[in-house]
Amino acid sequence: MAAEALIPTSPDEAAGLFGDGTNLTVFAGGTILLPEIASGRLKPARVLMLHRSGLDSLDTGADVIRMGAATTLASLIDATDDLLTRFAEYVADGEVRRNATVGGNLCASAGLGSQRGDLGAPLIALGARVRSTGRGGERTEPIEDFLSGERDGRLVLSIEYDRPSGKTGAEMMRRRHAHSYAVANVAVCERNGGVRIGISGVGPRAARARAVEESRNPDDVLTDVEPVSDALASAEYRRKMLPLLVRRALGQLGSA
Ligand SMILES: Cc1cc2nc3c(=O)[nH]c(=O)nc-3n(C[C@H](O)[C@H](O)[C@H](O)COP(=O)(O)OP(=O)(O)OC[C@H]3O[C@@H](n4cnc5c(N)ncnc54)[C@H](O)[C@@H]3O)c2cc1C
Repeated sequence: MAAEALIPTSPDEAAGLFGDGTNLTVFAGGTILLPEIASGRLKPARVLMLHRSGLDSLDTGADVIRMGAATTLASLIDATDDLLTRFAEYVADGEVRRNATVGGNLCASAGLGSQRGDLGAPLIALGARVRSTGRGGERTEPIEDFLSGERDGRLVLSIEYDRPSGKTGAEMMRRRHAHSYAVANVAVCERNGGVRIGISGVGPRAARARAVEESRNPDDVLTDVEPVSDALASAEYRRKMLPLLVRRALGQLGSA
């Protein structure tokens, strides 16, 4: 049976059609979903298509950068030049990035042989806030709370962060070809006299490295995240490399 397609033409309509998200698949850029549907692994009954929803506005203000969930990685790269862009540039290739969205990246689950959701690391380091709707209505929360909570049943509407005034650092570990997924990502950002550290690519969800933020000891990252094994790297390899990457990223701030 063919899926029912819901095509909202405004953010409010998208939120209304989403409701509490029951029996609904959100379809943004489709770079993850389309292969799933084409292969028959996913057979959605109702699909909320975001391409005309107006959730793709991008405001790069002097103080705050605010993006609709359906902002593509390509338009983000064209309009901004900061920590987030440095990670977005490494996701897939130009063709994929013209469709892939920030919201889809945030809500991506792990793939068959690799982790996804690379942008979680820089967004955590930047102290991003996520506005979403679903059961219980609309709410805005720190990205690390959104990621560690129940993401099913939430429609991401927008993501925003204060433009960083301090130094930032980035370490990405991946194979050298366009379609490789990350083995590990570390993003660091000076904020309010301290440092925020985001990790992605080592497990199904990006996480904030609070222990390292407090101790400044890169080895403590293994109390913050639990690396997994996949087709790209073993958990043991990730455990060995991650403290090294954290040390290097902190070194870019001149503080380790
Ligand atoms: C060749 C190739 C290479 C890739 N390389 C990378 C990589 O290096 N790093 C990486 O992180 N990813 C990679 N990806 C995966 C993917 O392209 C990105 O993660 C992308 O940002 C996903 O966005 P999308 O809009 O295409 O998501 P979609 O496929 O539309 O959706 C992905 C998931 O997010 C949900 N979703 C989408 N938007 C929302 C929303 N607003 N609210 C709630 N749920 C939502 C969907 O329901 C679905 O579960 C790659 C993909 C391909 C095909």
